[in-house]
Amino acid sequence: MEEKIYIKPPPQQASTSTLKDPAGKGEGDDNIGERPYKRLYQTWKGGNIFVFGGRFIFGPSVISLYLTLFLLITPVVLFSLFIPQKLSLEFGHKSSIVITAVAAFFTKFDLFLLLMTSSRDPGIVPRNTEPLESEENSNGIVFPVAKDVIVNGIVVKVKYCHTCMLYRPPRCSHCSVCDNCVERFDHHCPWVGQCIGKEFRFFFLFVASTTLLCIYVFIFSLINLCKTMEVNKSNIWHAILESPIASLLIVYTFIGTWFVGGLSIFHLYLIYTNQTTYENFRYRYEKKRNPYNRGFFRNINEIFFSRIPESKNHFRAKVLRPDPITEKTSTACSTTSTAVDLEISGGKRKAVSESEMDEVKFHFDSLRGSMDNTT
Ligand SMILES: [Zn+2]
Ligand SMILES: [Zn+2]
Repeated sequence: MEEKIYIKPPPQQASTSTLKDPAGKGEGDDNIGERPYKRLYQTWKGGNIFVFGGRFIFGPSVISLYLTLFLLITPVVLFSLFIPQKLSLEFGHKSSIVITAVAAFFTKFDLFLLLMTSSRDPGIVPRNTEPLESEENSNGIVFPVAKDVIVNGIVVKVKYCHTCMLYRPPRCSHCSVCDNCVERFDHHCPWVGQCIGKEFRFFFLFVASTTLLCIYVFIFSLINLCKTMEVNKSNIWHAILESPIASLLIVYTFIGTWFVGGLSIFHLYLIYTNQTTYENFRYRYEKKRNPYNRGFFRNINEIFFSRIPESKNHFRAKVLRPDPITEKTSTACSTTSTAVDLEISGGKRKAVSESEMDEVKFHFDSLRGSMDNTT
């Protein structure tokens, strides 16, 4: 089925084996034979930021990730420095070590989930390099902006993306921030600076574990404040002046718990009904049947335990550098040159489309296959 959609590139001037970079070196331009090469990530048309030679992919608003890290790490550092030590007077030295260690473990786990969410391909659908063929109707040549496909007996519209020049698979949407079409698009999260797509489970676990971390810090900061009142036999205002860090953390984590806790509950509802945030706001499945909702247990299985589809992009693959003359004079390059300018190995990146409906059927079949796999 895939071969109907992804036409294999013709033989290269240099063999595939010579194009591979087994040592993982060779950043930047390469010259193999007489042809200049770049890595795919260096010619990427989306707004993403790549680091470590294309091994990690971030959204264009990666700066916001620094803010999230600051908001996450700073209170935990303050907590570890000031709270357990005071509690050790009441609970003993060993307890204070355990309290600090649990907070540190929570934070490390949280940062791991944040990295998994923000630094990986969220499910970007590779662009076509030329528009699909137009269709003719009684009024002349037109390009249908949407087509219908059937998902679990329900008609679902798939729309044409003029930027990526493809019909979006079901549940796919174009992120205006990253400028990519993303599979199972949930939303673009400014806090992690990345699209939330097929890696949704990591995003949810990140939000849920952040909620637990907030509750943890809140509880022990509150205990700290209560103990301060008890030891000094003072009122709440004196205790706040006595333990300003604990008071600050109580307020901070109280607000944080409402924010990330609310988000966790909202996403639990979305998981329960197998909706994405985008679908929830856009389609309102309360008014019509959700074709993806297959019952609580199957939804849970699909979201948390099914295999995450592989990335369709091999960002470190070497690609032929586009010929500037050819690129300027015509967008309608020959099939051969277009294919040559794309994927070198692996066949992941689409060269040309044989038929737009074949593509839609292919994605639909993939969707149905993945649903079957989860049963
Ligand atoms: Zn698109
Ligand atoms: Zn995005």
